[in-house]
Amino acid sequence: MSHYDFDLFVIGAGSGGVRASRMAAGFGARVGVAEDLYLGGTCVNVGCVPKKLFAYSAHYSEDFEDAKGYGWDLPDAHFDWSALLENKNQEIARLNGIYRNMLKASGVTIMDARARFIDSHTLQVGDKQVTAEHILIATGGWPHIPEFPGSEHVISSNEVFHLETLPKRILVVGGGYIAIEFASIFHGMQREVSLLYRGELFLRGFDTSLREHMAATIKHKGIDLRFNADVRNIERQADGSLLVTLKDGTTLETDLVLYATGRKPNLKGLGLENTAVTLDDKGFIAVNTDYETQDPGIYAIGDVTDTLQLTPVALAEGMALARRLFQPADYVPVDYRDIPTAVFCIPNIATLGLTEEQAREAGHALNIYESRFRPMRNTLAGRGEESLMKMIVDKASDRVLGVHMIGPDAGEIVQGMAVALKAGATKAMFDATLGIHPTAAEEFVTMR
Ligand code: FAD
Ligand code: NDP
Repeated sequence: MSHYDFDLFVIGAGSGGVRASRMAAGFGARVGVAEDLYLGGTCVNVGCVPKKLFAYSAHYSEDFEDAKGYGWDLPDAHFDWSALLENKNQEIARLNGIYRNMLKASGVTIMDARARFIDSHTLQVGDKQVTAEHILIATGGWPHIPEFPGSEHVISSNEVFHLETLPKRILVVGGGYIAIEFASIFHGMQREVSLLYRGELFLRGFDTSLREHMAATIKHKGIDLRFNADVRNIERQADGSLLVTLKDGTTLETDLVLYATGRKPNLKGLGLENTAVTLDDKGFIAVNTDYETQDPGIYAIGDVTDTLQLTPVALAEGMALARRLFQPADYVPVDYRDIPTAVFCIPNIATLGLTEEQAREAGHALNIYESRFRPMRNTLAGRGEESLMKMIVDKASDRVLGVHMIGPDAGEIVQGMAVALKAGATKAMFDATLGIHPTAAEEFVTMR
């Protein structure tokens, strides 16, 4: 046994940290974890989970509208933000408890305090000092809000989950996952929503067909969508509302401004200056493919490194590192190809593999299959909205390189497609697969 207090000490009990701690303890290592704010990290407390609960809530407004065409005569429905918040808080508290029990049951020592490096093997955790042979930094990210006159009036995704009231008019700034999801959520909660993006078309990096289709869809729903627009300054007015002046001089009055302009690695007060850990040119902790920093014995995974900021990625990295350190015979490196992902806006966007643009840039000659159709559910509902499905196929090998979708439950559908792509599926294999009728998903096996 080493002379350190722990074989592995993990800083941060988020997606990656919890997975690494539990796996390592399961392999017999003596493991400790420090958590400053909340067990489960961003995903459980101010990310994936409460966001998805909010998205379910927001969906009801369309469900109530659609119900009429299906013979349901409903009284006017009213949305109660406090009821949702209270129920959400209870559910998150339940999950926090489950995380605590899981860690304890695995034999992990939990320290509810912030950790700071004293040297490469010693940490100050609250009022205690601990030593460890291996230390894992899994401190995640933190919302980044650019500074401009009046930026003190805006909130980030951290605060949105705890607002006392949800005002009538909301401005969302940004064009990535969080901005699109929350524009949808607030719209579903019957708020007047404006979405401001600084570029030509939001969702940079996604397939262009998806980006254009989504812009048209949410505009049609009634979200005030503004591209090539950015904020110059924000002033609080006497009645409490916010006057937002854009860079082109136009103004907009709103009650709440949510900035969803990316996240930065959470390194505050970590004491990295007391180690040999280095940062890359974007400010993330620099690691090699084995998650090793420049300081032997210190590792980093998840959002604090320059990886895809997704919970399944942090989980996979935590698992891989625990195996490499304590069960090397079972070590399997993370495969970063064909990672599926969804934006939980209404309707969902889901995407997997290469976009058409990426496939062309990589030199593939392509067959593109694209289908736009009104899902059956929208017929009696009287909803004109169309779904989009797109498949990118390599002409030479017939391999499916990318699958993209906008439509109800796209996240659920594309998860299954991810297995097919991992298995190297060709278009001919999709064609040979029988559909489940009548579903929207069957379109992926009937595209010609
Ligand atoms: P985190 O989960 O952020 O955990 C880091 C933990 O470290 C935190 O609990 C923090 O308090 C703690 N910590 C930091 N510094 C210290 C310190 N010095 N001492 C002690 N503790 C410390 N991903 C998806 O896959 N699907 C989604 O639907 C999704 N939705 C999201 C929605 C929102 C609004 C946001 C913000 C993110 C979302 N994500 C989603 C991304 C996902 O939450 C992150 O990729 C994931 O949580 C990263 O895990 P992590 O372990 O790297 O860090
Ligand atoms: P993203 O990186 O997805 O998007 C940030 C957006 O903000 C981009 O549109 C960017 O524009 C814009 N932006 C950046 N800086 C500025 C600025 N100074 N002024 C105006 N606009 C700016 O970040 P998010 O905050 O939306 O989310 C963070 C990450 O969390 C995501 O990338 C994703 O990995 C993860 N996440 C995953 C979810 C899921 O899986 N469903 C849901 C939510 C988050 P430009 O494109 O021009 O750079």
